[in-house]
Amino acid sequence: MNAQDFYSIFKRCTAVQIDSRKVKKNDIFFAFSGDNFNAAQLAESAIENGALAAIVELQEFENKEKNIYYVASTLQFLQELAIYHRSKIDIPIIGLTGSNGKTTTKELIHTVLSAKYNVLATEGNFNNHIGVPLTLLSIKPDHEIAVVEMGANHQKEIEFLCTLAKPTLGYITNFGKAHLEGFGGFEGVIKGKSEMYAYLMSENKTILINKSDQIQVEKTVDYKDVISFGTPNADYYFENYTENNLVGLEFLGQKLLSQLTGSYNFSNLSAAVALGLKYDIDFTSIKNAVELYVPTNMRSQILRKNDKTLVLDTYNANPSSMVESLKNFSSFAGSKTIIIGDMLELGNESETEHKEILNFAKNFSFNQIITVGREFQKANTGDLSFTNTQELIEYLQGNKIITENILLKASRGIALEKILDFID
Ligand code: ATP
Ligand code: MG
Repeated sequence: MNAQDFYSIFKRCTAVQIDSRKVKKNDIFFAFSGDNFNAAQLAESAIENGALAAIVELQEFENKEKNIYYVASTLQFLQELAIYHRSKIDIPIIGLTGSNGKTTTKELIHTVLSAKYNVLATEGNFNNHIGVPLTLLSIKPDHEIAVVEMGANHQKEIEFLCTLAKPTLGYITNFGKAHLEGFGGFEGVIKGKSEMYAYLMSENKTILINKSDQIQVEKTVDYKDVISFGTPNADYYFENYTENNLVGLEFLGQKLLSQLTGSYNFSNLSAAVALGLKYDIDFTSIKNAVELYVPTNMRSQILRKNDKTLVLDTYNANPSSMVESLKNFSSFAGSKTIIIGDMLELGNESETEHKEILNFAKNFSFNQIITVGREFQKANTGDLSFTNTQELIEYLQGNKIITENILLKASRGIALEKILDFID
């Protein structure tokens, strides 16, 4: 079976699934997980549950009458099908990568562009070699623009994802200290993320840049097809505007306020508004769309609990996003506690980075510093340090945090949001 032959079946499907529990009538199921035998059995039950077709890696399970097809590699077939589907699509495809802020920016762009268009965007954080093809395969004939998040933790990954998605416009949110281990340090991050610029340049496609980011400017300096924001001489210039710790912007005398906190969201928001304007959406419609968007995904979320203000930023953490988060939180009025958890995947630089973050945190006059995780514990200079979230929960059952503001920030693996029920 090849992608081209399978395409007529694909075109009739509602959605492509890789999780058998999610299969609904007329979906196509790719049997990925577990061993081949289990996966093939799941394929059979997917068909019984109404799937239009199932793809398996075990030849003896092939049963074309039942629409179960054998391929040598389900992953490769998924990618080939995505490439073939992409070749039939003629709408703007916005590619997003960067160390921090991809999902937030994606959501904001989705929100803004939806004011005028039927937009397809990456679901959640599905941004890798499986997520990108799935995103592409969910583009339907009535979609007018797609926004595709691309994540990477090593070299050549973005290059590969660009050959799948073939973005017609691309934006790198920032170059930061994330996945240092896989990329080989910060220089490696710049090189790896810049693969998107290389792709766009080689295909004469448009690059969106933030002119206040020196690296973005340098990397695109000789390229013609650039649109920009971030400085007064950029194509779109927005001024900073904040109210109640929320991030907004001002454009030609008109103001807009998002429901996100964190000064780092200014560039994420600016990118989305710039794209809205580029795609001919008037500022008032952009403003209405952004003001209605409420983050619900543990990224830069503000929660009020009794008389406390909580910043929930526990979706992930790395040194760059941690610094930004601390800076932002330091500007809150009133007494403040920071609860920071380990930043995972830092490799050799982990110990130094955790020490640096703690030293950085001490520059601000936070009332209390609490750390969670072994890496911070090694640096061992917080007021209170716990090995894991469970230990902190046990502490909170007998002790209260009394400050008016609390920041929660950690890598996903720490699951710091679990303490929410224990704060009052
Ligand atoms: P992932 O690698 O998990 O896909 P991501 O790039 O999609 O991450 P988000 O999920 O949008 O990033 O944001 C994660 C965290 O990164 C935010 O909660 C915030 O702390 C921080 N962050 C967001 N935007 C920026 C930015 N432009 N610069 C620095 N830090 C940022
Ligand atoms: Mg993401």
